[in-house]
Amino acid sequence: MTNLTTQSRRRFLMNAGASALAIPTLTDALGRPIQSDSAQPGRKLGIALVGLGYYSKNLLAPALQQTTNCRLAGIVTGTPAKAEEWMKKYDIPKGNVYDYKNFDRIIDNKDIDVVYVVLPNSMHREFVVRAAQAGKHVICEKPMAITPADCQAMIDACKKADRQLAIGYRLHYEPFTQEVMRLGQQKVFGPVRFVEASDAFKIGDPTQWRLKKSMAGGGALMDVGIYAIQGARYVTGEEPISVTAQFSPKTDPQKFKDVEETLFWQFQFPSGAVSNSTTSYTAGVERLYASCQDGWFELSPAFGYGPLKGRTSKGPIEMPVVNHQAAHMDGVCKDLLAGNKLPNHVTGEEGLRDVKLLQAIYRAAETGRKIDLKG
Ligand code: NDP
Repeated sequence: MTNLTTQSRRRFLMNAGASALAIPTLTDALGRPIQSDSAQPGRKLGIALVGLGYYSKNLLAPALQQTTNCRLAGIVTGTPAKAEEWMKKYDIPKGNVYDYKNFDRIIDNKDIDVVYVVLPNSMHREFVVRAAQAGKHVICEKPMAITPADCQAMIDACKKADRQLAIGYRLHYEPFTQEVMRLGQQKVFGPVRFVEASDAFKIGDPTQWRLKKSMAGGGALMDVGIYAIQGARYVTGEEPISVTAQFSPKTDPQKFKDVEETLFWQFQFPSGAVSNSTTSYTAGVERLYASCQDGWFELSPAFGYGPLKGRTSKGPIEMPVVNHQAAHMDGVCKDLLAGNKLPNHVTGEEGLRDVKLLQAIYRAAETGRKIDLKG
């Protein structure tokens, strides 16, 4: 086993166990020490959602009614009608409502501990940086950003402000997913030999930002293909060393004039494992399958909001069904409350690793060449 393989396995195993290390005292944006909230039992961190679209409205806000370590404390929106509706529905005081212009005033708001950026991908960088500069911890939706340079700027801004940055990787807190990480990384069926990891759906509204390259950064790969990348990485517990990729011909060149419609790619891993993936905006697929030396396991559905379903060559996978968004936000906020460093699997560095892979996949498909990822 190479050092790289050992290190990446160790990282993923640590992640699966969510064993975060305590770090020295955290300080706020002004360098003042921040006391761990573990001394205040029952305290919930106040979260402000930025961008009240589909995911905030239908998943995050309802989940925040179930969380134990955090609560919906504020909103940031460019749509005044939504502000009115949310204030009434969730009993949010006017003082905790911002728009995109006056957002920086959140620095003075003691009710808000965490800013959760749920905007189109191209806006993630700006709002993560501004949130960090306002002295807030940040959760940012996937994909972390459009380019590795954006991701690095976000990581740097949070470091500079001594704030922590988490990515919306909800599945790392989901029991079926944690189980397939264990099966693969601990070689319960022997070494993983090949993986099929695919995530795709039929997209609707042709005018939405997801179909504009400047806002989305790309097509299906940026939106849901990232789950297949994660899946291949977390069942092998390894980082890919090379990638090849192919675009499929567009069935609707008008709708997909700006971004790819369907994309296939193949990773090779240091152990010799290989993965094959599909992502698309044309039809659905949602599967994570691993064939190992002595058996197999799979999740299908594997990446949606659940319940996920799994089986192995020895029988069904039985795990508790949880609310993904509540588990994710509670998991992140538990560490923030305790003053722990966030586990690697949810950090900005993890988001950056995926964005580098997204770009490598595009490069491989555009050039038709195998891209070396070892550097
Ligand atoms: P939506 O298009 O439904 O919502 C985005 C919101 O951003 C809008 O409603 C609007 O809110 C705000 N916004 C500000 N400027 C613009 C603009 N120029 N164009 C469009 N919207 C704008 O997107 P989603 O909620 O589906 O996705 C948001 C983010 O969450 C994306 O990064 C996506 O990848 C991620 N996501 C993650 C999921 C997961 O499972 N982890 C699932 C779904 C999405 P307002 O009116 O309040 O200003």
